[in-house]
Amino acid sequence: MKIFNSLTKNVEEFVTNEPGKVNMYTCGPTVYHYAHIGNLRSYIMEDVLEKTLRYSGYDVKRVMNITDVGHLSSDADTGEDKMIKGAKREHKTVMEIAKFYTDAFFDDCAKLNIKVPDVVEPATNCIDEFINMIGTLLDKGYAYKAGENIYFDTSKLKSYYVFGNQSEEELMVGVRDDVSEDTNKRNRNDFVLWFTKSKFEDQALKWDSPWGVGYPGWHIECSCISMKHLGESMDIHCGGIDNMFPHHTNEIAQSEAFTGHKWCNYWFHVHHLVEQGADGKAGKMSKSKGEFLTVSLLEEKGYDPIAYRFFCLQSHYRKPLLFSYDALDQAVGTFRKLKNRIASIEAEGEVRDEVIKEWHDKFTESVGNDINTSMGITLVYDVLKSDITGNEKRAVIEDYDKVLSLDLLKEESAEAGADDELVAYIEAKIEERKEAKKNKDFAKADAIRDELAAKGITIKDTREGVVWTI
Ligand SMILES: [Zn+2]
Repeated sequence: MKIFNSLTKNVEEFVTNEPGKVNMYTCGPTVYHYAHIGNLRSYIMEDVLEKTLRYSGYDVKRVMNITDVGHLSSDADTGEDKMIKGAKREHKTVMEIAKFYTDAFFDDCAKLNIKVPDVVEPATNCIDEFINMIGTLLDKGYAYKAGENIYFDTSKLKSYYVFGNQSEEELMVGVRDDVSEDTNKRNRNDFVLWFTKSKFEDQALKWDSPWGVGYPGWHIECSCISMKHLGESMDIHCGGIDNMFPHHTNEIAQSEAFTGHKWCNYWFHVHHLVEQGADGKAGKMSKSKGEFLTVSLLEEKGYDPIAYRFFCLQSHYRKPLLFSYDALDQAVGTFRKLKNRIASIEAEGEVRDEVIKEWHDKFTESVGNDINTSMGITLVYDVLKSDITGNEKRAVIEDYDKVLSLDLLKEESAEAGADDELVAYIEAKIEERKEAKKNKDFAKADAIRDELAAKGITIKDTREGVVWTI
C-alpha cells in the first residue's frame, strides 16, 4: 500500500509500527452545527482509507474525537467559541447542543455509509488527560503561564513548521477576525493549552485544574485522546487540509514535546470541496456563500446521499473537488446507469476462488496506490466488461463494495421488479428521448414518453436526470 504523506510530500510505501496493525486517528467534528457536505467529503475519503487498509489485510484501530468544548471560530486562539455560539443561537445549553449535533453528525455518516470509528471520544471525557499533559509540558519547560492562561511555547521547538508550507497569510490566522492579538503570548504562534482567564465570561463548562478553574484549548484534545487509546506512537493521522495549520502543527508540537520522540508517521489530508465564485474563480465552500449545504438539504432536493458519496469517489482526495448541482446531476446519472448495469448481471456460472482473488488483488493494487478511488470505480466497469461468470461478477463487486460502500448490489425498489430486458428497453427509450430533446424534436420526445406510458411506465424529468417507475 502506498500513501501520500503530508510530512514528506511524497507518495511513500505505508509501513506500520507493528506489522499488520494500524493505529489511526481522525479529527472529529465540532458539534455546534450540522456538518457541511464539504467537511463530509473528508470523512468519506477517510472512511475509504480505513476500509482500504482493512481490505488490504490490516487490523485497524481508529479513534476519533468529538469537540464539545472550547473550539474557537478562528481555529486559533481568537474569535468566538463555536459551542457557546451554537448554544446561544438555539437557546440551549452547550451540552444539549453537543448531544444534538453529535447525533446529527452520525446520522449523516450513516446515510453516507461512513463506518463509525472504533473509538469515539468527546473532549469533555478527557479533562484529566489534558491536565496531565499540560502539567508535563510545564515541567519540561515547553509551556508557560501568562495572564492566568497556560500557553505552549513554540520557540522551544527545533522545528515548528513541520509541514513546511505555511504561507505568511496562513501564519496571520491568529490575528484576523477583528480581534486584537493576545498580548500574553511570547511568540505569535504560541497557543493556549488551558484557559483560566477566559474572555468568555459565560463559558458554561469549567473544570478544576492546578492552575485554577477553567477549560482546555482546542488542540490539546487530539494529542491526549489519541494517546489515551493508541499509545504514544501512531501510524496515520487524518483530517481536512484546513486542519494542517495551525491545528495539526500544534498537535505535533505538544505531542512530541510531551513524549520526546516522533509521534505520528503518516499524515493524510483531504482537500476542499470548492465552488465557482461570482468572479469565476474556485474557492472553498462555506456557509457564508449561498446556501449551507447539508446532507438533509441534498435529500430535500431529491438526491440520494450515496450518489454524493459516488460523486466524491470519482475524484482524487488530494485535488480540490468542484461542486455544482450540474456536476452532481451528472454523477447521479452515471451512478444510476452503473447500478442498472450491475442489476442486470445474470446470476449464472461457477464462482472460482482464484478469479475472485485475482480481482481482489487488482483492487488492492489500484485503490491502495494513494487511495485512488476513481480507479476503484473504473475497476467495477472492468468487471462488468470482463468474461468472468455472472456470479463471479456479483461476488467481485460485492467484495469491492466493502471499500466503496456504494450499495452497488442493492437494487432500487422501483426497478427491482423489472427484468433485465425491460430495463434495457426503458434506458434505450430514455436515451432516444434525450437525443430528440437535444435536437429540439419535442413531438418525438413526447411520443416516446407516451409510448412508455402505454406500457405502464412513467418517466419524470428531475434534477438528477430522468427517473422512471412502473
Ligand atoms: Zn485534531
